[in-house]
Amino acid sequence: MGIRTGKEYIQGLRKGTREVWLRGERVADVTTHPAFARPLAHTAGLFDLQHDPVHRDVLTWRTPGGDLVGTSYLPCKTKEDIAKRAAAYRVMAEPTLGMMGRSPDFLGSVLHGFAESSELLEPLGGDFANNLREYANYVRDNDVFLTHAIITPQNDRSKNSAGQADEFLHLGVVRETSEGLIVRGARMLATMGPIADEVLIYSMANQKPEDSNYLFVFAMPIATPGIRQICREPYDDGTRLAANHPMAANFEDSDTLIIFDDVLVPWKRVFAHNNVPVINDFHARNTGKNHSSHQAAVRGLVKLEFVVGLLMEVVKANGSEKFLHVQQMVGECVHYVELMKSCLVRAIAECEPGFGGTIKPPLLAVNTGRMLTSRFYSRIIEILQTVGAGGMQMMPSMEDFHSPISTDIEKYYQGATGVDAEKRIRLFKMAWDICGDAFGSRQVQYERYHQGDPVRNMAGLFMNYDKSVCEGLVARAIESTSQDILLKLQAPKMALAA
Ligand SMILES: Cc1cc2nc3c(=O)[nH]c(=O)nc-3n(C[C@H](O)[C@H](O)[C@H](O)COP(=O)(O)OP(=O)(O)OC[C@H]3O[C@@H](n4cnc5c(N)ncnc54)[C@H](O)[C@@H]3O)c2cc1C
Repeated sequence: MGIRTGKEYIQGLRKGTREVWLRGERVADVTTHPAFARPLAHTAGLFDLQHDPVHRDVLTWRTPGGDLVGTSYLPCKTKEDIAKRAAAYRVMAEPTLGMMGRSPDFLGSVLHGFAESSELLEPLGGDFANNLREYANYVRDNDVFLTHAIITPQNDRSKNSAGQADEFLHLGVVRETSEGLIVRGARMLATMGPIADEVLIYSMANQKPEDSNYLFVFAMPIATPGIRQICREPYDDGTRLAANHPMAANFEDSDTLIIFDDVLVPWKRVFAHNNVPVINDFHARNTGKNHSSHQAAVRGLVKLEFVVGLLMEVVKANGSEKFLHVQQMVGECVHYVELMKSCLVRAIAECEPGFGGTIKPPLLAVNTGRMLTSRFYSRIIEILQTVGAGGMQMMPSMEDFHSPISTDIEKYYQGATGVDAEKRIRLFKMAWDICGDAFGSRQVQYERYHQGDPVRNMAGLFMNYDKSVCEGLVARAIESTSQDILLKLQAPKMALAA
């Protein structure tokens, strides 16, 4: 079948019955509910983009079977293949200015890496590894839109899953049957869950043996009886005027808690379970992390470029760009953009051997880019808040332009030379959405947490880092200083002797 259009994607969401709860009510049809209208339109737009003659060659490739499929499933044999993947990530990120974390290429990259690394699951025996490969082909060939839920709900973080107040507060296996696994409990959180086709369930590495019953890899269609999603309070319920909230009313991603109520996961859809060491090893070494971190870093760069551009326009509009300390702060942000670009050059130039004759972007480079996005993004937002200051708070509604006070609006909201009131108001509204609105706070939180807990990620980086070069320099320095000290200690004696 191959790539779908946006219309086909939306039609697909109408098949089956999905259970989505929003503000105390069950959503009858996510494709017509106003709260999902904008994310749906943006996602559908990305499906259509694959058919656009301008972008088709970058966004797609032809499988040996003849299907035209998404580039996030492109196996990499050469550096050009990695470069093509990077170019496709960029084309996918630009329409939403990097704000949509769960564009289809993100989980496409995760699943592609999982399948590419499926040999790591062979020690499980049975059909698990093969099930994963077949599932990845199915998703690729049918252009399926995935979400994922990898984290257990917080509940009580001082206890593991087995120790929670209820045995199945966290998603776990109730029993095995001849048909598959019966699973019960919750996972958090599934971004875009209400309008995704399927959900991929897996975990972070380093899970404890006592949580064996909560450790598995499987995928299920969202429209499965017993799968229930509870949406967080929407920041845009479809009623906000895009002119007043150019970012918040356009780029809302929904997030849900996803509950499995004794759902049967057929064996075909189970890719791993009941073996903590093998599953931990799979999560530590599969190339899904390489490809998805690469995607996240490219998307992150687009996002940084956009907010830095916004920052530049804001300081131009309020005339503060002439002040030295403001120039210094914007210059600092330019550094961040340029550093991100450097990580992405390494992603291709220093590619490494992967599984089965493939190559992969080095995790250190792409993961550094991905983790830096989070730090840089929140710092740029802090600077935007500092230089935008109270100006962002006092912007009127766009409706005021069409009211009896419109001349006041034109006069009193004008900016520095050459920036009229309308441009300044539009700019500052955009800036406020990004750094003051709930939408903007979620964006900061998304970058901080979507890749897992940054504290443990950084600690893992330190623990697993090849320290030989850094420590070697220190060893040489110690050696040379100790000789230096010896010389100095000997010097007075020599002087005395003389
Ligand atoms: C906007 C947004 C979108 C997201 N989308 C998705 C998604 O689509 N799919 C998905 O699966 N996840 C998603 N996530 C969830 C994300 O994976 C988690 O937020 C992240 O893994 C951190 O987990 P947590 O929020 O439970 O924080 P916690 O793990 O509870 O961490 C909170 C604090 O407690 C500390 N802490 C907690 N436990 C320990 C411990 N055992 N040892 C040491 N310190 C600890 C942490 O260091 C941290 O400071 C999203 C998150 C956000 C904010």
